[in-house]
Amino acid sequence: MPQTRFSRRPDTAGKLRVSFEFFPPKTDAMEARLWETVTRLAPLAPSFVSVTYGAGGSTRERTARTVKRILAETALTPAAHMTCVDATREDVDQVIGEFVAMGVKRFVALRGDPSSGVGDAYQPFPGGYANGAELVGAMRRQGDYDISVSAYPEKHPESPDFATDIDMLKRKVDNGATRAITQFFFDNDLYERYVERARRAGIYIPIVPGILPVHNFSQVANFAGRCGAHVPSWLAERFEGLENEPQIHALVASAVAAEQVLDLIERGVDDFHFYTMNRADLVFAICHMIGIRAGGEGGDRRQPAAA
Ligand code: FAD
Repeated sequence: MPQTRFSRRPDTAGKLRVSFEFFPPKTDAMEARLWETVTRLAPLAPSFVSVTYGAGGSTRERTARTVKRILAETALTPAAHMTCVDATREDVDQVIGEFVAMGVKRFVALRGDPSSGVGDAYQPFPGGYANGAELVGAMRRQGDYDISVSAYPEKHPESPDFATDIDMLKRKVDNGATRAITQFFFDNDLYERYVERARRAGIYIPIVPGILPVHNFSQVANFAGRCGAHVPSWLAERFEGLENEPQIHALVASAVAAEQVLDLIERGVDDFHFYTMNRADLVFAICHMIGIRAGGEGGDRRQPAAA
């Protein structure tokens, strides 16, 4: 049988690190699903789990509630996302302080999208932080936290060119960012080229690939269009005709994501951030394929205390 990426278990098992991203649930049913997911993925010992953040008081409260519950009921390390949207500097500083008082030591600092919708021109809130770099500075002024920021292998749609985009990443690093997590992408060459560009610009923090398992291809294609991520035609072809075949769709999605991750491992990547969409199965399967096992080497023997 020929050797393929799938017939080899990477010899990096035990050295790989993963982190998982969740979004705060809006309903009781979504909350139950999130906690099933957290319970299933916790034994894989992620370096941290992050919780996204939205504009508007109720969304912010949901993020805070979710982070608080992770701290209270699990042994996981949460990272709180924060944005600059619709908030003054004082408001943002206060929210940072509230997370710190809860016991949060990790943040993901973002500018955010306009509350009118992705794609509209971003206007900084009067008296607010203007971008991710300024927010990193605000967090760093409050303490010695682990601060992740965004990075865009295909450049952010608002960046006129890669030089501007990389310059923004450099400003974030200069202000104290310790890690970048990328927007999702499907072409590993784009990621590799971006990392090379960043290194040439003197950026040496880890640039961790953000991996999005494709739970629903048409939704992903739609979303990718809005955030400037390219969907290659080969990917569309793999999911073609599977709209009403959820089980086959999931099998294909698992193979596609595993192939991407295994190729990145061959390129030397050893740290992955998974956009879980609050679902465990695909992420669990990919982690299993790369040798990350519950209670295994590097595995977490800690379990959520309750779920
Ligand atoms: P920034 O990096 O601050 O800016 C984006 C681009 O705008 C820059 O690259 C630059 O080209 C341009 N720009 C901004 N300011 C300037 C300036 N002063 N001068 C010149 N150019 C400038 N969104 C949420 O709402 N909540 C979340 O929890 C969330 N989590 C995310 C996690 C990750 C890992 C990623 C990759 C994205 C996330 N997003 C989230 C989406 C993010 O908010 C959007 O992509 C948003 O459009 C940009 O935010 P940013 O922090 O990347 O912006």
